[in-house]
Amino acid sequence: MAGKRVVIVGGVAGGASCAARLRRLDESAEIVILDRGYYVSFANCGLPYFVGDVIQQESKLLLAGPDLFRDRFHIEVHLRNEAIAIDRRSQELVVREVDSGREYRQPYDALVLSPGASPVRPPLPGIDLPGIFTLRTLPDSEDIREWIESKVPRRAVVVGGGFIGLEMAENLVHRGIDVTIVEMADQLLPPLDPEMAEYVRRHMAAQATLHLGDPVSGFEQAADGGLVVRTQAGSAYAAGLVVLAIGVRPESGLAQAAGLEIGHQGGIRVDSGMRTSDPHIWAVGDAVEVKNRVTGQWELIPLAGPANRQGRIAAGAICGRDAHFTGVQATAVCGFFGLTAALTGSTEKSLRRAGMEDYKTIYLHPYQHAAYYPGAKPIHLKLVFRASDGLLLGAQAVGEEGVERRIDVMAMAIQMGATVFDLEEAEVCYAPQYGSAKDAVNMAGMAAANVVRGDVALASWPDLGAADAFLLDVREAEEFHAGSIDGAVNIPLGKLRGRMNELPRDREIWVYCRAGHRSYYACRFLVQNGFRVRNLAGGYRTYRAWYPEDRKQLCTV
Ligand code: FAD
Repeated sequence: MAGKRVVIVGGVAGGASCAARLRRLDESAEIVILDRGYYVSFANCGLPYFVGDVIQQESKLLLAGPDLFRDRFHIEVHLRNEAIAIDRRSQELVVREVDSGREYRQPYDALVLSPGASPVRPPLPGIDLPGIFTLRTLPDSEDIREWIESKVPRRAVVVGGGFIGLEMAENLVHRGIDVTIVEMADQLLPPLDPEMAEYVRRHMAAQATLHLGDPVSGFEQAADGGLVVRTQAGSAYAAGLVVLAIGVRPESGLAQAAGLEIGHQGGIRVDSGMRTSDPHIWAVGDAVEVKNRVTGQWELIPLAGPANRQGRIAAGAICGRDAHFTGVQATAVCGFFGLTAALTGSTEKSLRRAGMEDYKTIYLHPYQHAAYYPGAKPIHLKLVFRASDGLLLGAQAVGEEGVERRIDVMAMAIQMGATVFDLEEAEVCYAPQYGSAKDAVNMAGMAAANVVRGDVALASWPDLGAADAFLLDVREAEEFHAGSIDGAVNIPLGKLRGRMNELPRDREIWVYCRAGHRSYYACRFLVQNGFRVRNLAGGYRTYRAWYPEDRKQLCTV
């Protein structure tokens, strides 16, 4: 007996995972995938590396084709078929065959929308000139490759310094092209807090020309046939190739035209079972708005992991299972030129945007593995937690190694509603080449727990210039002379007991060291001797992230 007919619009991350799960749950269902593109189930996350020739064969990006869907799962795939309207009353989709223009109606019992998001392409002068690309599909990456191979550009401008922009920059450099990144925000990786993005800027500055804090105003054709990219502040960059990576917009037009509820961010609104405002229609992936687990706000989180999980959940819900999506926390990672940046949960700026003020932050710079084992490298880590009870709210990390492992642990902790006290006690694996007996995760928990318990008070880095505090540097003299904060007095930790009489009792003392460890000892010692003390968490390393040496300006959250 024929089962229910499920039609899926979009056959990549969310759509393909929904289809496969549906088949596993219901052998009798008739499942049809429609995609207007040439491929289904391709690895769009791998596209930058295909452009960069790191992945050399296109076939490696094709995870499953129509034949495999048909033969293995008994799922029909219709490529180059675009859904152009939803007739909700008759439960039919109006479909156009892209190549022939023929239109037909496709009935459904359940409809799943997984149309993704389209790259933003603002209506700037010259935006349609040849040589300006966006990257979303396999044909987009083929076009960029072909352009590189035929025109052999020496210079490229990547507009946008977000995750895809940085991945593209790395891959274009890999093709021997000089890259300039033009970014509207005055930091790279805008999802990170600015002082954390400073580590990224420093690293990227050695690899590409960076033009931050100034949006592109337009594009012109140069006399030599290349392009000129102009910025609002009046800069101009010559380029043989431009890649626009300035974000995506949810493809919610089809849903909107059908009268489905759309959220404030422009994404399709769904319930926890991924069902839209129409009981016969589900939606998943980049096109939907999702609830942020930490702030409780609706957000657009265009990431592959949530899209895949939502596809699976929609399939469960369609088959009558009690399947629920529990929300997102924007866990993301990006690698470029040997550096990794990752985050999970809320950043300080996202909490501020959400009007949440009951939080504190700590910084630390632990090594990815035992300091004595060769190749130890720091992880710059920022933890955001609820000040009143230590609930973990977010974490950001930047470093060469071990970054993603720590953020994954934090991600799971946030998902489980863990506190900084749980991180103190977290049992993670350890051997010298992988971690430390007191792992970075434990260290972060301990430093934050010390604050929540009241063992140490924190000073705020952005308040440094304005506060009437006595600034105490407890590093060794040679470290102090190699670079210090203006106005600081140096008393190395080992000498502090003997020189306590040099410290004021009528002013607050703000203490720092290199990474925040020795200053914590100093704080504990001074507090127990009756001084009013605050720790500048993360030490001089964090100071240099807030007050970059070559920028002479404070990062602002
Ligand atoms: P998509 O995977 O985009 O699929 C949508 C499909 O729907 C497309 O094939 C489209 O042709 C089709 N479609 C749209 N409208 C219609 C219509 N009306 N009729 C028929 N078909 C239609 N995420 C990560 O988590 N990590 C990464 O490292 C990462 N890297 C990325 C790199 C790049 C270059 C890109 C572009 C994305 C990256 N992402 C990454 C994001 C991730 O790929 C998306 O979040 C995910 O693919 C979203 O899945 P989706 O099913 O919603 O949409």
